[in-house]
Amino acid sequence: MKVTLCNAIAAALSLVAVASVQAQDKVLNLYSARHYQTDEELYNKFTQQTGIRINRIEADDAALMERLRNEGKNSPADVILLVDAARLWRAQVEGQFQPVRSKVLEERIPVNLRGGDEGQGAQWFGLSTRARIIVYNKVRVKRDEVATYESLADPVNKGKVCTRSGAHPYMLSLIGAMIERNGEPATEKWAQGMVANFARPPQGGDTDQIKGVASGECAVALANSYYYARLLRSNKSEDREMMNKVGFVWPNQGTSGTHINVAGGAVARNAPHRDAAVKFLEYLASDEAQAYFANGNNEWPVVKTAVAKNPVLQQMGDFKTENVSFTAIGKNQIPAQKILDRVGYK
Ligand code: FE
Repeated sequence: MKVTLCNAIAAALSLVAVASVQAQDKVLNLYSARHYQTDEELYNKFTQQTGIRINRIEADDAALMERLRNEGKNSPADVILLVDAARLWRAQVEGQFQPVRSKVLEERIPVNLRGGDEGQGAQWFGLSTRARIIVYNKVRVKRDEVATYESLADPVNKGKVCTRSGAHPYMLSLIGAMIERNGEPATEKWAQGMVANFARPPQGGDTDQIKGVASGECAVALANSYYYARLLRSNKSEDREMMNKVGFVWPNQGTSGTHINVAGGAVARNAPHRDAAVKFLEYLASDEAQAYFANGNNEWPVVKTAVAKNPVLQQMGDFKTENVSFTAIGKNQIPAQKILDRVGYK
């Protein structure tokens, strides 16, 4: 019995020793909700430049958050990459991040694309942006009847509208921004109008909405710009055929501008390799990494000097963006979900 206990203690001590060696080792534990193959090359370049090896854990946002909660203080996570302001805000409020002061990041990433920057440093840094666009069937819809988010709730579009679930972060962020612009009562009325206009109950992802518009089951839908751009870039004949049937608008160009969202990164609360984590975020803010990072998923870089040569995004053109803070969008998720529950927007 004694021997066993001694062995156990010895084993435990050697584990502590291994852990402390690992902490000094040049590694970085990356928890990423991104799943784009093009990110891979970027990570390899970082290792080449710095000698820091990246251990990558990839899962969807919900699974990553669950893992972080379970690991608690012992989490090996150094950097966390998430998509959508709603999710970044939730993780921030849960205390999964730690504030970071970095001259490089503060100079390169605009203040409106950083989260929780209140003197102690930002909790998260935006790394790419995407827009929520309106996609319409060229035969079934007149373009000027679907020019704004608000117009989708107009009786003229009865039986025509498709979206993914209202509870998805992409929708909650859009509705959160609407609450900020138009107030809660007007947004509730809008949500009611949307439900009245549905062509089918909310289902599927954004790509499914575009498919539904092409098939004619839906006449108009909401989707993130990168799904649309991805299909436009596709060489598959069925995708090309599908995209011939649909058009898109940058919503609200005559009014508040098109809703944009952000994908971003943060240093984990108990990051064992904090310096490497900051270095990695700084690397992702370099011109080269920015162009590559954004381009891989047909998004836009957040750093002004980064040039992403993306022919499809160039073809889609410039647009006026909505000016609502991501903090407001994050906070408004709660009233947004309540509105959806009240009006039966599933
Ligand atoms: Fe997505």
